[in-house]
Order: sequence, then structure tokens, then C-alpha cells
Amino acid sequence: MSYLTRAASTLENPPQTEPLNERQVQNSASGYSFAVDCWKRLDRFLILGSEGGSYYASEQKLTIDNLKAVKECAEKDGLRVVNRILEISRGGRAPKNDPALMALAYVAAKGDITARTSALANLPEIARIGTHLFHFVAYVRQFRGWGRGLRRAVAAWYTEKEPERLAEQVVKYQQRDGWSHKDIFRLRHIKFKGQYQAIAKWVVKGEVTKTTPAIIKGHVKLQETTKALDAAKLIKDYGLVRESVPTELLKDPIVWAALLEKMPMTAVIRNLGNMSKSGLLSPLSEAASTVCERLTDADLLKKARVHPIQILIAACTYGAGRGMLGHGEWKVVPQVVDALDDAFYLAFKNIEPTKKNFYLGIDVSGSMSSGSVAGTFLSPRTAAMAMAMVTARTESNYYMAGFQHKLIEIPVTAKTTLRDAIRITEGLPFGSTDCAAPILDALEKKMNVDTFVIYTDSETWCGATHPVKALQMYRQKTGIAAKLVVCGLVANQFSIADPNDAGMLDVVGFDASTPQIISQFALE
Ligand code: CA
Repeated sequence: MSYLTRAASTLENPPQTEPLNERQVQNSASGYSFAVDCWKRLDRFLILGSEGGSYYASEQKLTIDNLKAVKECAEKDGLRVVNRILEISRGGRAPKNDPALMALAYVAAKGDITARTSALANLPEIARIGTHLFHFVAYVRQFRGWGRGLRRAVAAWYTEKEPERLAEQVVKYQQRDGWSHKDIFRLRHIKFKGQYQAIAKWVVKGEVTKTTPAIIKGHVKLQETTKALDAAKLIKDYGLVRESVPTELLKDPIVWAALLEKMPMTAVIRNLGNMSKSGLLSPLSEAASTVCERLTDADLLKKARVHPIQILIAACTYGAGRGMLGHGEWKVVPQVVDALDDAFYLAFKNIEPTKKNFYLGIDVSGSMSSGSVAGTFLSPRTAAMAMAMVTARTESNYYMAGFQHKLIEIPVTAKTTLRDAIRITEGLPFGSTDCAAPILDALEKKMNVDTFVIYTDSETWCGATHPVKALQMYRQKTGIAAKLVVCGLVANQFSIADPNDAGMLDVVGFDASTPQIISQFALE
């Protein structure tokens, strides 16, 4: 190639270190990607969070960047922010509720009057448990003082609940983030009547009277109990939960058996290790059948708003046979491992196979291997693998490959267990990034692809061709109007998808609705 033809070709097809057009911005890896707008950033923040930071940004920096996006959205349309928070939080689409509470706190403090009123009116919808309320109060106090509106909204959080439900809350979640119900009750303008007053009396002074709700009475009795059999009876009689049980008694299988009877779904998922350590959950035990039955009950999962990431984490830790940070060991029940795998797929919103051909390209480069997804031990690349597994499980026609600056074979299929898939992905070497690699690979191998799904942080830089350009080439050479879905795994501001191309879509990794959105887009 002469210097003139080389220059002409570069002008037409610049490398990723140069912008493809004036709409691209420089990413953290010094390559060029498209910038997503503040609304997409809001979605990424609500779902992925910023806890644990990313490869390119500390937790602090990533959080501030995301709060700037929340601010931008709130300035544009505060009510739309509240509605988006409601949609994602209520729908159980995010692994953690904290970013939703933070964004709500921001609008409740800084939004215009309509947005502020709506944010405060929806507090009980977003802060569904005591811990959420404490988080909200801690966040909102960073942005504003205790005005009348905020006091009234917090008071309503208590008085809008039936007394029995409120009693459960004050027993189960007593304090967090330097806030307790006692602190809140002491604030002026929160005055309670009737049974609410009895609850407040116990919270503030520890007083139990005739009108104190039964669950509080049971909780108080349990604190004075040292025998497991007595504890089990109290748990059953009063419907008490794990949070009420003194630590010493949590070593006894009799106590766990009593708790398991009415244990909420999320508690079952979180306490598999504890139930195993106590000896209750063991191979061929009755508890094992109960647990498996509940884990694979789609309705129960849905009602409890269990997020698939919670199950994935349980599958990894329980399957390891020992707790994180060396907290004890247990015998793994294979049926429970399988039930957790089934539960993971069931926890995603309904997805139907599309019969389309999917190329699932997982970015396993260095930047995808550090940082955290939603503050968990999952890195963006292991989370990406888990997401790809969902589509692989649903669709019969899929091809799955990892990529860095080149393709990386990953020995994982739709039938691999989640724990193995995560372990295999964790163990891959690191490399630089070319997000066009999967598309160029399909072109070279003459594969028929209807939809490329690329799971990435969009920090692409080392390829000779931009992903968008590669897709144009693919469409031209094959005659297939192939689509591109970019599944973002880091709450940054970049995407390799061109927002002006209707055949490209940006979705947020680990949104419980993402696989459904991907299949709907593939069918359009
Ligand atoms: Ca990278």
C-alpha cells in the first residue's frame, strides 16, 4: 500500500485511538467511544452502582461522577428521575437499593417543588425496610435539613404501615448508618397514637405494656432465652426471624429448623451456609428438600423480588463449601447447588427464545477484571459471563466467545454450572481491548449472526477498526441487517453503540430485565 492509499484508508476507517466522527469522545483507555446521555447514566448508576469503583476510577471518583449525572437529570426533569427510580427499584431490577435511595434523597433535597413532593411521597415505596429508611435519612441529610416536608414523609413511613408490620420492622432492623428508629422518633413533630405509641415506647424506652404488639413481646422473651428448644418454640409462636435470635443460639439446628418454617426467601438464600454449619442443611436432610423446593418456586422468587445476582453470589459461596473470610466449612448438597442454578435463571424477568442467531462476545480484558459490580465480589467480566449464560440458556442458536485484543476461547456452554463458569472466567489472563474483535471474527468465519451482544465497559482502544465500522462491514458483506446490543457492565459514560443507529441498543448489565430487553430487540 502506498502512503497515499494508506492515508485514504485511515481517513475512511480510522483506528480506535482516533475518533470515527465528531460525536465520539475519548474514553479512559485513550480510545474513542460514544458518550451516553445522563438518563442512561442514571440507569447504569441505579443498577450497577459505584461501590468498589472500577479499573479506571476509584469508588469515590466513580460515585461523584454518577452523582453528577443524577444532578444533571434532576435539573432537566426531577419527576422523570423519581419515576425511573420507582420503575427500577419497585421492579426488583437492581441488585442493590442504595443507589435508588441516594438518587431519591438527591431529588427530595434539590429537585423542584413537584419533584421534591413526589420523591417524599414515594419514600415508603422505595425505602421498603427499616435499613432502607436509615440509608435514606443518612443520604438526604447530606443535601438538606429537616424541613417540615421531610419530617412528615418520614413520619408517614411509620404510620402508613399496619401496626403489626411496623412492629416487625422495628424488631428486625434496629439501626444502620448511625441512625436508629430511636433517633428518628426523638425528632420533633413525630408523634404517635394508639398502638403506634406502644411501639414507640418500646423503641425509645424498652417499655412493654398490654398494648405492645405480640412480635415485640416475643422478641423480648427470646433475648432472655438460653435453651434452643425454648427459643424454637418462641420463634414458632411469635413468628420471629433470625435478627431476633441471640448469636449463641444460632449454632443450634433446632433453632434454624424453627426459623426455616417461615423464613423469607432472601433469608433462605443468604443463610444456606449458616444452616449448613449448624448441621440442619445436610445431604439427604428434610431441610435440603424444603430449601430446593422453595428455591425453584418461580412465584416465591418473584414475590420476594429476589435479584439474580443474590442467587449467583449464593451459588458461588455455598458451592465452595466454606464461608468467605474463612467462616466455617460445610458439606455441600448437590441438589441445592442445582436448585441455585435453576433459581438464577428463574429470577430474570420472563424471556422467550427468539430462534435468532446470537454472537455473545464477552470482554475479558484487564479493565473488566477489577472493580466490582454492585459492590459484590463479582468483577465486570464474571458478571458479564453470568449475563451471557442467561441468553445462552434461553437461545438454542448462540455462539459464545471471550475477547481482549483478540478472541479468547472460554470452555463454557449453557449447561456449565454458574460456579464453574465464574471460576473459569476469573482464571483467564488479562489483555488489552478491541471491542470489534467479535464482529470481525464472525466476518472472517462467515458466521450468520442476527444479533451481536457485546458485554463490555466500552473502553476499547487497540483495534484497527471501530466496532461500529466493523458492524457496517459485516452488514455489507453478508447482507444480514445484523444488530448490536451493548451490555454495559461499568457505570461509566461510554458505549460502543452509536445512538443514531436504530440497529444498536445500549442496555445495562445485571438489570434483571436485560435478557428480556435483548430478546425483544432481536425480534424487532
Ligand atoms: Ca479493557
